[in-house]
Amino acid sequence: MTTDYLSPQRAAAVALPDDYHLHTPLCRHAEGEPAAYHAVAQRVGLAEICFTDHAPAPCGYDERCRMQLDQFAEYNAMIRPLMAQNVKPRTLFGIEADYYEGCESFLERWLNEQPFDLVLGSIHYIGGWGFDNPDNRAVWDRTDIRRAWQDYFVLVAKLADTRLFDVLTHPDLPKKFGHRIDEKQLREWAAPALDRVAAAGMAIEINTAGLRKPVGEMYPAPAILELAHERSIPITFGSDAHAPGDVGAGFAAATAMALAVGYSERARFRSRQRSLVPLEHQQPIATANRIR
Ligand code: ZN
Ligand code: FE
Ligand code: FE
Ligand code: ZN
Repeated sequence: MTTDYLSPQRAAAVALPDDYHLHTPLCRHAEGEPAAYHAVAQRVGLAEICFTDHAPAPCGYDERCRMQLDQFAEYNAMIRPLMAQNVKPRTLFGIEADYYEGCESFLERWLNEQPFDLVLGSIHYIGGWGFDNPDNRAVWDRTDIRRAWQDYFVLVAKLADTRLFDVLTHPDLPKKFGHRIDEKQLREWAAPALDRVAAAGMAIEINTAGLRKPVGEMYPAPAILELAHERSIPITFGSDAHAPGDVGAGFAAATAMALAVGYSERARFRSRQRSLVPLEHQQPIATANRIR
């Protein structure tokens, strides 16, 4: 059987996965109103989207890149109308919360108080270094790249151990600017972290934002997705859209990668409860015709 997942005809007839990673201008580095993200999702033909803006951190952690705690009500109020309307795609309410040393005291209480469908867990800092922030990119030039990767996966394991998060997002984010390590070493360090992700009952995300970054590939690399599949870790998909035009971007390729690795299902979330749905299913003929 030849696989031709990327042909336009096939892409039109096959439903794309839900986009479970969208930002809003409240994080101060995204643009476009939620309704504009929804409109793009509708045009692309997505069934569900989930807003997952960067969580507030009252301790002052990374405060330039996230809403203030007292802006959370505004975030909720921005998304509610989309959730209430009865048009596709269905809109879910989520958050992208960072794991960092000391985050637990706030997140343990706060996450449970909010009506989230989904909580993404991310690592954006190694020690005090926001390693994926373009403003800090030059720090990579004076950093031991292997050491950074090793430290990163230790943090991923700690993230999982908190049991605070539903999905590990952009699983190999340190490659963002092109700082890679060889695949054998990558597997060796990623494997124990993924053991902990599996033990925590978490899913991992295929995040297409990397396609738009210097590295030019999705997070995670196929090697890491294989390790996740071996551990029966479910998957979600996210564009990590910081502008409406990003919604659903690269999802045909992301689906193809998941199928190639052996996945046949993906995770859906409601009120932080997970179910599995077929990764790929045919759209009704009428819908497919309309898209063409
Ligand atoms: Zn962001
Ligand atoms: Fe992130
Ligand atoms: Fe994000
Ligand atoms: Zn992100």
